[in-house]
Amino acid sequence: MKIAVASGKGGTGKTSVASSLFLARPGTLGIDLDVEEPNMGILLGSPEMEVRPVHLPVAVIDGDICTGCGLCARECAYGALAWFGSGKPVVNDTLCRGCGLCPLICPVKAIGEENREVGDVTVGTVEGAPFIEGRLRVGSINSVHVIEAAVKEASAFENPDWVMDCAPGAACPVAAALRAADLALLVTEPTPFGLSDLEGLLQLTSEMGIPAALVINKTGMGDESFDDICERYGVEILARYPFSRSLAESGARGESPYRADASWARTTDALWETLERRLS
Ligand code: SF4
Ligand code: SF4
Repeated sequence: MKIAVASGKGGTGKTSVASSLFLARPGTLGIDLDVEEPNMGILLGSPEMEVRPVHLPVAVIDGDICTGCGLCARECAYGALAWFGSGKPVVNDTLCRGCGLCPLICPVKAIGEENREVGDVTVGTVEGAPFIEGRLRVGSINSVHVIEAAVKEASAFENPDWVMDCAPGAACPVAAALRAADLALLVTEPTPFGLSDLEGLLQLTSEMGIPAALVINKTGMGDESFDDICERYGVEILARYPFSRSLAESGARGESPYRADASWARTTDALWETLERRLS
């Protein structure tokens, strides 16, 4: 069972839920796919990790061969080749996604590829279970490439159960993580912002055909009702975690709430049982 823990916005407690689900089932593989701000490892005690750089094959033009026809610049879907109607195009390394199109279509074979490091995948162990983290390099925009590399690394392990901590929001990085999931567990809070941002994520899971379910965190902090959204998207609430100042404080100290709070741990254990019933 591969569970993607996602949220429509930051600050809902998504990583607290993901780290707890990971700790609650020994042998579950954990992956932090929030590659711009990976912090699940902090809640897992900052394990020692082996670093493996992630490379992207970026286009490189040989100016001696290029005829300046401009075909590559016209066809690049990412606007990574600057060409002003004459002369030779210039590759913007940051925008190039390494899609491999321009080397194929250049009529004079003037385009090659050169590997650039865009991030890292780090691999470690927490309580005997594999833990993997994707981390985007500062200044890089290729988060999807790093997420895919982390998922590929995870696929080399035989652990059937995964808990993935996704990026917040409803854009390409979360979609890239959801593609590897059997179920999207969407963490939200009972506030107008929580409800509004949840809707975007439910639209995404629905368009992708990924089954989704909700976890409401910080109950008591607001009183928004989820009845209408659950009915419209056909989703259920599988767990509710109450708002607690002491939990927020333990999180700030880098402790997973699963280890810090017995009530939170019981709710997480019950959530796993519900997930197993639902996906069996
Ligand atoms: S397609 Fe090839 S020849 Fe044409 S501008 Fe691009 S690199 Fe130069
Ligand atoms: S490899 Fe793809 S993204 Fe990069 S410059 Fe060529 S066409 Fe554009």
